[in-house]
Amino acid sequence: MNELERVGAELTIDLSAVRQNFRSLSNQLKPGIELAAVVKADAYGLGVKKIVPVLTSSGCRTFFVSTLDEGVVLRELDENVTIFILNGLLPGQIKEYINNRLYPVLNTMDQIDYWQKNQNKFDFSRYSAALHLDTGMNRYGISQLEISNLVSGPHGHPSVSLLMSHLACADEPTHPLNAVQLSRFHSNVKLYKSRVRNALTASLANSSGIFLGSEYHFNMVRVGAALFGINPTPSHSNPMSQVVNLKAKIAQVAVVDTPMTVGYGASHRVQGPTRVATVPVGYADGYIRSLSCRGCAFIGKKCVPVIGRVSMDAITVDVSSVPLEESKPGTTVHLIGGPRPIDDVAKDAGTIGYEILTRLSNRIPRNYLWDSE
Ligand SMILES: *Cc1c(COP(=O)(O)O)cnc(C)c1O
Repeated sequence: MNELERVGAELTIDLSAVRQNFRSLSNQLKPGIELAAVVKADAYGLGVKKIVPVLTSSGCRTFFVSTLDEGVVLRELDENVTIFILNGLLPGQIKEYINNRLYPVLNTMDQIDYWQKNQNKFDFSRYSAALHLDTGMNRYGISQLEISNLVSGPHGHPSVSLLMSHLACADEPTHPLNAVQLSRFHSNVKLYKSRVRNALTASLANSSGIFLGSEYHFNMVRVGAALFGINPTPSHSNPMSQVVNLKAKIAQVAVVDTPMTVGYGASHRVQGPTRVATVPVGYADGYIRSLSCRGCAFIGKKCVPVIGRVSMDAITVDVSSVPLEESKPGTTVHLIGGPRPIDDVAKDAGTIGYEILTRLSNRIPRNYLWDSE
């Protein structure tokens, strides 16, 4: 008995599609430009322990995560890869960084000071850090003024191997901030390189940034979402392979007629005789509540509208338009993936694919697919 039959729901994660996405993104880069993977938040909710071996076997050597704890988990998985911690170096953490050979991304002047004060603890032939430059997002990174002060100041520059910045609007190719950030990053890198002797890697682009053009690629790109099947070019069709597929079986079908309502809050009123199918997946599984009364699920290629509110453990869909035989208890309904792209789900929920992925809960059994070659 498979999980779909046993539990009534199944989350399929196609690891071969992740490998395919890594390859197709690599093919967009000029030779010598590194494709680094961002696997924060448990590889965007998909399971870092499954995802990372696929990426390393595809040739990935550099990873980014957000927290020190995520870095420690990743180090246990792989002895050799380079791991950067995006959230930076906080007081008291330095020992754990050293013990696990994790590289901090230095985001503030305080972090730079802390790093420089502790430099004697590191063997720089095998240890390094990144410096995050804020080119216009105003989130992480040192400001433009701090960069020029740092480079010309008395304390000298910190010893780092990577200069990075992050784009605020990469998924909107015509947004003027892209060109502004590109030009600032160019001059920051040039300035920094004029003062140091060691080799420096520069990195600006995330998934969508790759598609802005090769001038955004520098020496390294940092991709997360596109690896996991989210469309990096929202104004065009999705060039990536789909990775996630959530499906469930109809648990029961109710026949209702006016003047009845469906679900909590009586938020949906039927207009006439309606067949309402209950599907055993709810917001506790990651089918988020803002999908209440929004969009549809699919039976085969047929859209069955989600009616009523999403509850913790179930949703209700209107299957009136589907023949009885094809919409009875046990029929498979596609919720995310397949005929229902994750970006469409996100749009209907008023969010982005990233949030849909990272909210998928572990309650639904996961089936990891892998075609070895
Ligand atoms: C999350 C993150 C990325 C990856 O972004 P995607 O859009 O998922 O490719 C790259 N760089 C930084 C700094 C990030 O925080």
